[in-house]
Amino acid sequence: MGDLELHLLVAGHWKADGGLMFGVVPKVMWEKLKPADGNNMIDVACVGLIARIGGKVIVCETGIGTKLSEKRALQVALREPEGLLHSLQRLGIRPDEVDAVVTTHLHWDHAGGLTRLRDGKLELTFPKARHFVQRSEWDFALHPDVRSASGYVADDFTPLEDGNHLVEFLDGDAEVLPGVHIRHVGGHTPGSQVLVLRSGELACAVTGDLVCTAPHLRVPWTMSDDIEPLRVLQEKARLFDEAQQHRWLLVLSHETDQPAGYIEADGHWRPEPRLT
Ligand SMILES: [Zn+2]
Repeated sequence: MGDLELHLLVAGHWKADGGLMFGVVPKVMWEKLKPADGNNMIDVACVGLIARIGGKVIVCETGIGTKLSEKRALQVALREPEGLLHSLQRLGIRPDEVDAVVTTHLHWDHAGGLTRLRDGKLELTFPKARHFVQRSEWDFALHPDVRSASGYVADDFTPLEDGNHLVEFLDGDAEVLPGVHIRHVGGHTPGSQVLVLRSGELACAVTGDLVCTAPHLRVPWTMSDDIEPLRVLQEKARLFDEAQQHRWLLVLSHETDQPAGYIEADGHWRPEPRLT
């Protein structure tokens, strides 16, 4: 896409509670689109991007990673947790060659891959990368409210700061590298951000949990754990307007089936066949 080289990243498959994913949307509506199993769980993926722009390698989203306990991994039916490193390997990129890492927020299913265990010791997955996080997200992740606490695991992100100083805090929107834009959207979590990669008129946005799956392309279909649901509605509507008008490629955070695509003039989702 212009000067951008984009590779869709699927950093694992798992199952999430349908009620968590669709909030106030009645199950009779969502289950036609995302069938639930006997435990009301639906198939989801951890989706992101590996991009090359201006000679730099950028990883957006790291998925669940490999640190889950066996019990927890079974609970969420986690498959292929090594997807991130395997994808990099296929592209011939070593973890220490990654220049920048962006996770849309610090929830366990997006930031888990930032760190890994080697011989029982916690270490950074990308030891030389700059990591861009909203300061509001970092502060909240360290001191979440009681409802949000289960969404964060300190081992995922605190090593970026402790003794390493590899995290760069953002206070709102920023262009962190040429063509690499971060938009603070909040809503799902205080510091949720959307990554927008630009090359001239072309753009690709990694939505994070602002838009989890293709059914979430309906503005009112939002998750039950959003801390500020009305802000999610506003930011989604704004993103969709821009994406539709300027033909932005969108990458949806948890869609299992063709997660990258465009919103057509009639509002329909058109998956990008080269990114499936
Ligand atoms: Zn998520």
